[in-house]
Amino acid sequence: MAKRDYYEVLGVDRSASKDELKKAYRKIAIKFHPDKNPDDKEAEEKFKEAAEAYEVLSNDEKRGRYDQFGHQGVGGAAGGFGGGGMNMEDIFSQFGDIFGGGNPFESFFGGGGRGGRTRKGTNLRIKLKLTLQEIANGVEKKIKVNRLIVDPNTTFKTCPSCNGTGQVRKVMNTMLGQMMSTSTCPVCGGTGQVVENRATGVDSSGLKKEEEVISIKIPAGVSDGMQLSMSGKGNEVAGGIPGDLLILVEEVEDEVLSRDGNNVIYDLYISFIDSALGTSVEVPTIDGKAKIKIDAGTQSGKVLRLRGKGVKSLEGYGHGDQLVYVNVWTPKKLSTEEKTILEGLKDSPNFQPSPSKTDKSFFERMKEFFE
Ligand SMILES: [Zn+2]
Repeated sequence: MAKRDYYEVLGVDRSASKDELKKAYRKIAIKFHPDKNPDDKEAEEKFKEAAEAYEVLSNDEKRGRYDQFGHQGVGGAAGGFGGGGMNMEDIFSQFGDIFGGGNPFESFFGGGGRGGRTRKGTNLRIKLKLTLQEIANGVEKKIKVNRLIVDPNTTFKTCPSCNGTGQVRKVMNTMLGQMMSTSTCPVCGGTGQVVENRATGVDSSGLKKEEEVISIKIPAGVSDGMQLSMSGKGNEVAGGIPGDLLILVEEVEDEVLSRDGNNVIYDLYISFIDSALGTSVEVPTIDGKAKIKIDAGTQSGKVLRLRGKGVKSLEGYGHGDQLVYVNVWTPKKLSTEEKTILEGLKDSPNFQPSPSKTDKSFFERMKEFFE
């Protein structure tokens, strides 16, 4: 199913302010909240869709990437990473900012049906440098990360603040009026337990740092600034589920090839003698080399296309091409002998420019290429 535009989902224009986004999201969240629409799959989907849209658009960095690259830019299409989608826990934890502390639905709509909230560890962020070759074909990388893991030797006791329930009750004012609200216990963070005995190197939450080698499958076609996420590979938390590992892609510039979307560009220089007589040259490609034929009479600016020699599409279908831009090299200095030869050809009729309709200018050809 194609993803709907996030602005469309929230019913705001692309220039919407943070406040407008928040208002729009609040309206949808109340309307489609699962507790108000039990066993209504469609309402749940709408609720999740809105939460995801708000999650992206309320974050300046993500919104910028979304505006520029669409769903791909925010990991929506990174296959194999479970990217994009939010689970209910993410959504409910988002409510803190929307409704000003706590989740009013938990008490207001009867709550409890979800069997309490699961705590989630924090996310880990890493930068990953990738070469053009790795991006073109996809790659599996082994990466060392320092994760916080739950120390098995730490002992816990019941939290004295909430008596182990993980929640404290308070009266709060919300836009829906004054209500009793249950919120996460600030002492134990909702686990209902606090550390009793811990070893050195273990923090007050019972966590310790441990180096781990994680194998990451990078799909072909990712680009600079894209964020991939591996769920459950972030920091652990006692009595909860681990956070996610967020991988920020950095493209390493290639020395000879450049990238334009899924196409790969190579600038080829040939002498004007080769351009007049024709020749065959070897050009570098992502996978090695390719031999190409330059026809006699090739003009500077001609673009040769090596089909399928570009970057594999992130969506999983097709490849880009390699485009070879032919540049005819004009000598910058000449010996007396060379000068004499060229002057002898100066008035030769075949050396007079006479472009036909098919010999379009460089810019016209470029235009055609990208239309
Ligand atoms: Zn507590």
